[in-house]
Amino acid sequence: MSARIARFLAEQTPETPCLVVDLNLIGAAYDGLRRYLPLAQIYYAVKANPAAEIVRMLNWKGASFDVASRGEIGLCLENGVTPDRLSFGNTIKKEKDIAHAYHAGVKLFAFDSADELAKLARAAPGSRVFCRILVTCDGAEWPLSRKFGCAPEMAVELLHHARDAGLDPYGVSFHVGSQQTDLGQWDGAVGAAAGMFSALAALDINLRMVNIGGGFPAHYSGELPGVEHYAQAVMRAITRHFGNDLPEIIIEPGRSLVGDAGIIQSEVVLISEKGGNDGRRWVYLDVGKFNGLAETMDESIKYRIATPGRGGSAGPVVLAGPTCDSADILYEKTEYCLPLALRVGDKVEILSAGAYTASYASVGFNGFEPIRTYCI
Ligand SMILES: *Cc1c(COP(=O)(O)O)cnc(C)c1O
Repeated sequence: MSARIARFLAEQTPETPCLVVDLNLIGAAYDGLRRYLPLAQIYYAVKANPAAEIVRMLNWKGASFDVASRGEIGLCLENGVTPDRLSFGNTIKKEKDIAHAYHAGVKLFAFDSADELAKLARAAPGSRVFCRILVTCDGAEWPLSRKFGCAPEMAVELLHHARDAGLDPYGVSFHVGSQQTDLGQWDGAVGAAAGMFSALAALDINLRMVNIGGGFPAHYSGELPGVEHYAQAVMRAITRHFGNDLPEIIIEPGRSLVGDAGIIQSEVVLISEKGGNDGRRWVYLDVGKFNGLAETMDESIKYRIATPGRGGSAGPVVLAGPTCDSADILYEKTEYCLPLALRVGDKVEILSAGAYTASYASVGFNGFEPIRTYCI
């Protein structure tokens, strides 16, 4: 935890659960990515954490933004982002929202199907468009496969058609899956993109851009290579497949920019044992799947957890949230151990919780408010 967050919690003692985000850490992560990938243009994936303070700070630093809806477009424009730095990256858009974005000045759009391309041709004529291709997402802890993208051969046809439909066929995108643990995953995807550049060049269409999506990690349980190693793997893949004729590169980080910059402070509501021969304590927190920890679904994202002020010997626990839904269990299969001295009312910290927490909270299931975010 950063010293600034520790001081904020000590001095302000906010109600729990709450998410505290250190903007300086996000700025540092952004600077790091610029240093490691100097050729890439960085589009922050707003959905990871849409706090206005984060948008303003990254805008001030010169970032661009990957947005998925009218709401996210409005958020960016209201916080000073000019529309030329927005990419409408969702492949599933209503035609009226495309028209709205186009009239607001957005001129860069994603698609992955013939129908979506037809909508873009009607509602955003002349815009730059890129086609998202299917990739397997093997090795990702939060995969984004199947739902998005089309086969590269189909993407070639669609981009060819895009030109005839009055659009500017600009490039190719993919997302190798969020919290990707395998640095080798970018190579195949970049190779497929390079193949599409060649196939379309033969049709006299010169693609210019490769959008390598997100996938860079935050620091959860388990060790992964640093972001600089991910950046190296990406650049190796691009130079291997494109040689000297490098395309424009776009990267859309979400998790790796904001994940490690935030912690959720929560409180133990109840500790119970259930008899029988399991012997594990059940520890119920005031934060759960519905008010901030949605990514514990299927125990996919395994947060690091701290119990400040409580040490000594530890024992296995099942961790659960406070609502009356039995799906609101955080970790039951994954082994978590917490101090035996832990008591009701103790603070529990969920570390690296800056991404996909506040924005995934329900509006008020069971009367529990969505988690409050403090940006400091
Ligand atoms: C969610 C998303 C991202 C961000 O992915 P991370 O793994 O969080 O970096 C980037 N691009 C698109 C299109 C997305 O949907």
